[in-house]
Amino acid sequence: MAPEIDWESLRESMVRNQIERRGLTEERLLRALRTIPRHLFVPMEERYRAYIDGPLPIGGGQTISQPYIVAVMTSLLVLQGDGNVLEIGTGSGYQAAILACMTKQVYSVERDAELAARAHEVLCRLGLFNVTIKTGDGSEGWPEHAPYDGILVTAAAPSVPPNLLQQLADGGRLVAPVGGQEGQDLQVWRRSGEMMAFESIFPVSFVPLRGKAGWSEEDWLPKHE
Ligand code: SAM
Repeated sequence: MAPEIDWESLRESMVRNQIERRGLTEERLLRALRTIPRHLFVPMEERYRAYIDGPLPIGGGQTISQPYIVAVMTSLLVLQGDGNVLEIGTGSGYQAAILACMTKQVYSVERDAELAARAHEVLCRLGLFNVTIKTGDGSEGWPEHAPYDGILVTAAAPSVPPNLLQQLADGGRLVAPVGGQEGQDLQVWRRSGEMMAFESIFPVSFVPLRGKAGWSEEDWLPKHE
């Protein structure tokens, strides 16, 4: 019989070594990372690696992001606990679960129906009923539930989709990797009335955002998809 894995200890050392040691100290964020069982969002054959300091494949050529990147992107949203957040690229559902612990309502859009269904199942199993997932092209947002206090894009966009900026509430923040196959820039956009302020954080490497405001298959070849 395979030895039992102590997931809680692995999770604790992930938080200490990958998150706190790199300077992220916000209590609510750390609590969310300590609470959400990341291994449940990872396919069975990858589960033993669920708490490593890197991304992992989740099927369909897609990935669950590195824990540190999930933490940084979440903290850049500066969530107040009572907001409406939109995520583009549900993937495994892990990022949505972290958001669900830190805000009132999460809407998440995933183009791959199989991933969306799997994420929905895990989130329900964990009782995170404040996440609503839709299958479709999220590159144009989800106008029915706008405005959003935070918008998180978890796939690389050629430029920030204008419809997403339009769906941002006054004072809201949008966090997105912007750039191409060779690498992207993690960007934060903040709305103040009709004005948008922009900040560039650091280089990142994401899978492509597809769809209307995303990358076409000619411009970003589906090498690993
Ligand atoms: N947030 C995810 C998690 O916690 O596991 C990781 C997301 S993965 C890096 C990027 C996801 O974006 C993939 O699942 C991909 O199918 C999805 N995606 C790409 N283009 C999309 C689009 N236009 N609309 C919705 N989802 C999209």
